[in-house]
Amino acid sequence: MNQRMYGLGSKRSVIRETFEFGKKRAAEVGAENVYDFSLGNPSVSPPQIVEDTLLSLLKEEDATALHGYTSAQGDAGVRAAIADYIRRTHGVACDPDFIYMTCGAAASLTISLCALCNAEDEVITFAPYFTEYKVFTETAGAKLVALASDPDTFQIDFSLLESALNEKTTAVLVNSPNNPSGVVYSEETVKKLAALLERKSAQYKKTIYLITDEPYRELIYGGVKVPYLTKYYRNTIVCYSYSKSLSLPGERIGYIFVNPTAENAKQLYLAVCGAGRALGYVCAPSLFQKMVARCQGVTSDVSVYEKNRDLLAGALREYGFSCVQPDGAFYLFVKSPEPDANAFCERAKEYNLLLVPGDDFGCSGYVRIAYCVSPDMIRRSLPAFKKLAEKYFG
Ligand code: PLP
Repeated sequence: MNQRMYGLGSKRSVIRETFEFGKKRAAEVGAENVYDFSLGNPSVSPPQIVEDTLLSLLKEEDATALHGYTSAQGDAGVRAAIADYIRRTHGVACDPDFIYMTCGAAASLTISLCALCNAEDEVITFAPYFTEYKVFTETAGAKLVALASDPDTFQIDFSLLESALNEKTTAVLVNSPNNPSGVVYSEETVKKLAALLERKSAQYKKTIYLITDEPYRELIYGGVKVPYLTKYYRNTIVCYSYSKSLSLPGERIGYIFVNPTAENAKQLYLAVCGAGRALGYVCAPSLFQKMVARCQGVTSDVSVYEKNRDLLAGALREYGFSCVQPDGAFYLFVKSPEPDANAFCERAKEYNLLLVPGDDFGCSGYVRIAYCVSPDMIRRSLPAFKKLAEKYFG
């Protein structure tokens, strides 16, 4: 068998380990006494229009067509609806023939990386980063180079990026709003990034692509804006998913959008189609393709997450913990009060608080707290956080 695949399959991620521990612990002490902040599973229901649209599709459409194969890259009408939404909302060029429907952001990323990379290529990303980036990049035969971010803001450290970019760099992979820091890249960061990538592409006489992983685009708080990257850098591939915005992670639906004004855009899109074919990611789920086409611009009620953020971040800071203010997604990335975040997570478990060490996100000395849980659980968990804080801060 393939030893790399065996290795990936036999080792559970620390997030999954923590989640499984939580289930065991709940059986011992009661589910209401376990505060599981490990998983990024949305806790807000999908908006009612999702159910209504699914039901009307099931009633109105011919079942054979509705459940049948679509074109490999996705139904033409669905891609037209998405392209229209992108054009209207972000004021950028978009075309249905540059959209590829996928099974969520994980598929969008794997396809995009396979479409771009050759053996020995490098893909640069910024820590902390989504744990699966390394797996996806290595599957594409390339190497993930993770750079530390500015520790005060978790924005890009441009001097590190400047020295890391080289003739082997194929793409820079960004994720804003970020999992796990919750940070949103400012327009200033995006402009600087675009200018640097232009300059380095010219210096190395090759196109350095920007891949933007955007499952949290709509989960933003306090009026913050998430710049639309094709507007700033033409050689951009957008990897989108409805997993978080419509609370549908189990339905596996998203898309790739190749900027039509990118260098050799048509060939790039064909490489995306080829990678989708090679990976077996063709014809994304038909019912959900058709549903999202009718629900463009709709999101779950993300104000619940904002309230959770305010409640939890406020309390944790009051108890002595520190974290960068998250403007989006639904995670807090908290500085561990002892250098070893794993030891801190073990200590937290004594209070039935299930947190995830930052090491797998490429950032030791931090823990991730997923606050996509019920507000009631957050309220009930606060005395446990307080006791945990007292162990460290007195
Ligand atoms: N990218 C990031 C940053 C994520 O946090 C996740 C899921 O949590 C994914 C990609 C994968 O998303 P999907 O469920 O749409 O495949």
